[in-house]
Amino acid sequence: MKDLNILPSASTAVNGLGGGRVAALPRGAESPPQVPLRALDQLWFQVSGTVCNLRCRHCFISCSPDNHSFWFMTRGQVAAALAESVPLGVKEYYFTGGEPFMNHEMCGILEDTLELGPATVLTNATLLPERTVRELARLAAGSPYSLELRVSLDGVTPEMNDAIRGDGTFARCMEGVGRLVDAGFLPIITAMQSWPEAETGRILGGFRELLADVGYDRARLKIIPPLLIGEEARRTQGYAPSMRVTHEMLHGFDLDQLLCTRARLVTAAGVHVCPILLDYPGARLGDTLGEAVARPASLSEQACYTCYLHGSICANTAASGEF
Ligand code: SF4
Ligand code: SF4
Repeated sequence: MKDLNILPSASTAVNGLGGGRVAALPRGAESPPQVPLRALDQLWFQVSGTVCNLRCRHCFISCSPDNHSFWFMTRGQVAAALAESVPLGVKEYYFTGGEPFMNHEMCGILEDTLELGPATVLTNATLLPERTVRELARLAAGSPYSLELRVSLDGVTPEMNDAIRGDGTFARCMEGVGRLVDAGFLPIITAMQSWPEAETGRILGGFRELLADVGYDRARLKIIPPLLIGEEARRTQGYAPSMRVTHEMLHGFDLDQLLCTRARLVTAAGVHVCPILLDYPGARLGDTLGEAVARPASLSEQACYTCYLHGSICANTAASGEF
């Protein structure tokens, strides 16, 4: 049987995108599968580059205070990409880093974004003083679109969380969560699963109790699988050599499960395929959004195996992992 490679079909192109069908082309056995962008539903921004106030032991893009591989985006750079995104039919915007609130223009960037669509900020919640939370609440109240805060917290106790995210981060994060809840937000609390599956029920219960203590009843929780790259590969064992997406694995697979068929990532240094593969040179698809949407995603990296198993883990509406 010949290997199949999945590429955009020119005959089904819509708005300059790859369209809904896939074309099967013969390729050599070694070439990785490629998948077209089917629709640009989500636009992500690496708004603080790889700069973060924390130095988490599981960070899959190894962000830290001194990782300057990718620098902050300016409000002007984001605004240019926002303008380019409108005719492409983007439905929602995501902001990540590093820590987005290290970007001093973050609230202005959200103000611009919330004129166009819903926005989600992925944050560690340790840089959310009262004045910032008040400003976020003002922006949310003034927009017809939703503003979501997705807060990373990796344990239900300081011991459990701080072993991964650093000393004192549990307390600082919980202060930020408390402020968000007091201001009327319902943050999505996100944890990387660092425990055995059999423990999940107990841990989820622990999160609910913890969050109820700061006035957040029926908390929104999202558990994501580890991505075994960057710092997480050093903390654990990384991927086994066999953990790769092959052409055969995509037969009958719903490609909509992959973020790279519905999204692109804008950075200060070009447009990349997704927020997971920021550090991989092959993941940079062009200087502009227009260039990047026309190019397929290559599932050549082992992190793609995690997406294959778990679906679009980056999005708020992942197929699995929400409770
Ligand atoms: S996991 Fe998040 S908070 Fe931790 S170092 Fe990476 S970007 Fe920063
Ligand atoms: S890491 Fe996931 S989203 Fe990124 S290219 Fe691979 S499969 Fe697509």
